[in-house]
Amino acid sequence: MSRAISLHQLSKTYGRSVQAVDRVSIDIDPGEFLVLLGPSGCGKSTVLRMIAGLEDITSGELLLDGEYSNHLPPGQRGMAMVFQNFALYPNMTSRGNIGFPLRFEAPDEDSGPRVEATARMLGIGDILDRYPAQLSGGERQRVAMGRAISRRPSVFLMDEPLSNLDAKLRNHLRSEIAHLTRELGVTTVYVTHDQSEAMSLGDRVAIMRGGVLQQVSRPREAYGLPANVFVAAFIGTPRINLLQAVVHAPLGGPMVIDLGRQRLRLPQPLSTDHQLLRIQQGRQLVVGLRSEAVRIAPPSQAGPGEVAISGLVEHMEYQGHEALVHLNTGSVPAVVPDLESPRPAEQRRRRSAPSGGLLTRLKERTVTQLAHTLPRAEEPPTAHAGGPHDPDRPRLSASDLVVRTGPDLRLRTGAQVPLLVDLAHLYVFDHHGRRICPAPTEQPGFDMDPA
Ligand code: ADP
Repeated sequence: MSRAISLHQLSKTYGRSVQAVDRVSIDIDPGEFLVLLGPSGCGKSTVLRMIAGLEDITSGELLLDGEYSNHLPPGQRGMAMVFQNFALYPNMTSRGNIGFPLRFEAPDEDSGPRVEATARMLGIGDILDRYPAQLSGGERQRVAMGRAISRRPSVFLMDEPLSNLDAKLRNHLRSEIAHLTRELGVTTVYVTHDQSEAMSLGDRVAIMRGGVLQQVSRPREAYGLPANVFVAAFIGTPRINLLQAVVHAPLGGPMVIDLGRQRLRLPQPLSTDHQLLRIQQGRQLVVGLRSEAVRIAPPSQAGPGEVAISGLVEHMEYQGHEALVHLNTGSVPAVVPDLESPRPAEQRRRRSAPSGGLLTRLKERTVTQLAHTLPRAEEPPTAHAGGPHDPDRPRLSASDLVVRTGPDLRLRTGAQVPLLVDLAHLYVFDHHGRRICPAPTEQPGFDMDPA
């Protein structure tokens, strides 16, 4: 009933120069719920549309149940698609809309029982005789899903199906989709730019950036073991703290991670992961600390694997169940390019610019250095100019570290607070943005290089 979908080095180029999807390989199991996640313009919908047969494949292979299917007509793929802009027929009731595909798929069958069973499943049995104009946004989206479900497809393809709905309804329908797709056991590929939606829905999440697959893994691994700095920054709220850093490993002395004004002294004997940092000595690195990896407490309370630093309170963000403390530790934040991707038109323009042009490269370099960004993989950093120790380096933001605390803690702006960093939850990324601590394990099927 449900299908296996394999993408092998799938690419899509629009016109001569817009590389929307670049050699994406993923094997999706029958019945699996896979989420394609990434900023807008990264190629998610294009992948989905190639699976659906709505977009020609430029190169690579699409296999359905192991069969080469690049040129299989959309109608023969057994797939149903749900879009963001759910277009219902305005002159048909919900019943008519849900039953519409059955007119062609099962013309001899009485569609009534199937429509009613589908409506019951979606909790919309009481609105079957209403027209779209008489429905709320959530009800309309349920009818659209009903239309997809009633066909009993072997694959659901969903393209941001909830993004037109308000937050409350989105959360509600999100859990219904999770429940329903698993109950039906249908392979589902779901596109979203919303990381919390991806994390809560997917059996696995495939994270894309600029047409390139960055990581495919279960949500827990994507959060806990991000393959690179882009994935680390894209997943998790509040965003992971990313600080520019340099490792010093003097002979006979303790190894330290230098964050500019403060140092993390690594405990001896070094863990295997920390030993691997030795070879990065002196290079520009990025340290990643999630807001729960740092706590406000004096050095005397440090547990094993915790090291002390301190910070000045910039401001507090009260969240009800917790508070976020924004601190200044004197470190230089690392900024990750592409997190908020440019508008499509801008991106098309950028992509169509001659890539090797001197002017383009000069412009990119200037932007990269001014914005303190991590260099892109194809542009190695120039020596240590602008590193954390460069006194001429301008500061962009006063707060460089966000720490999570209980909701009742009250701190004065400007107060100096002691901090404990949990080294077991410390990430280090190399100058290409690849995670080097904890040491990476190879993941088959995709290129870890974020270039
Ligand atoms: P996402 O779904 O991640 O927002 P898309 O797959 O829609 O991204 O688009 C990926 C890239 O391909 C974008 O840069 C977009 O501008 C470009 N693109 C999409 N469709 C076309 C098209 N028909 N012609 C030219 N470029 C396109």
